[in-house]
Amino acid sequence: MAPLASERMLSRTIGRVGVLRLATRALATRVPIVGGNWKCNPKSAAELPELIANINSCDTSGCEVYVCPSPLHVALVQGKLTNGAVVAPQNCNFTGCGAYTGEMAVEQMKSMGISWVLIGHSERRGEFGLPTPAESSALLATKCKHAYENGFKVIYAIGEPLPVREKGISAVVAHCVEQLKPFKEMTLLDPDKIVLAYEPVWSIGTGVTASPKQAQETHAAIRAWLAKEVGKDTADRMRIQYGGSANAKNAPELSACPDVDGFLVGGASLKAEFKDIVSAVAKAKGQKRPMSKGV
Ligand code: PEP
Repeated sequence: MAPLASERMLSRTIGRVGVLRLATRALATRVPIVGGNWKCNPKSAAELPELIANINSCDTSGCEVYVCPSPLHVALVQGKLTNGAVVAPQNCNFTGCGAYTGEMAVEQMKSMGISWVLIGHSERRGEFGLPTPAESSALLATKCKHAYENGFKVIYAIGEPLPVREKGISAVVAHCVEQLKPFKEMTLLDPDKIVLAYEPVWSIGTGVTASPKQAQETHAAIRAWLAKEVGKDTADRMRIQYGGSANAKNAPELSACPDVDGFLVGGASLKAEFKDIVSAVAKAKGQKRPMSKGV
């Protein structure tokens, strides 16, 4: 590809090695990413066009965007996004197609042109009223491996319940680390394939957002663990979204946190303000999304 005029000028000014250094630094920058989790909404498929229009109204030039429709609506949304946003179903199995009643296989998604999937949401880990943990981190690592084998990228949600938060930051980090360990052991923490979504359970759907200080402290601690346990390059490049009552009002302040690389949004993703959350993080991180790298 011929260099742009600006690149030619830059090259003359600082020489080829300088350009390469700049390019390496640019690649190391984390492109923000925002997802909308529609959970088990909307009630009627007739409401989908408005929700899809919401996603299509997002400016994706400075931020990657994905949407997680309910399983019944995935096929009705896939193919309707016009701005580079993509569909990421809310779950997948770890075995593929076959006699697995009620399950969704990445093989089926792949045949529909889907290549991203969300796993580990606390509402699937049994945090919302189920008597037992429905999905363990070990199971989720197995799902992630199977998704990778099918060429998928994965959004992996982690986060602590309120009693753990009340014990303080060390307990919070220990809890998140336990959720990450099976992924580390199976060498799944590849920043080109996975996005982490830190979602404190006490803030999901409650209107109680983590303060920027709490979010930054937790994200930074997760990144420090990645640096120590997996490697500095992985830590520098891993995108960590914040999730938990994020909305257009609190997004600018949370986006200003250096270790917050975007949001996983539930309730507000069903509203017109979703696009403002995307704009807020794109503005705060202030870079254009590389065109060659799609979600
Ligand atoms: C979520 O579902 O992941 C979520 C963060 O929900 P909410 O934004 O409604 O808290």
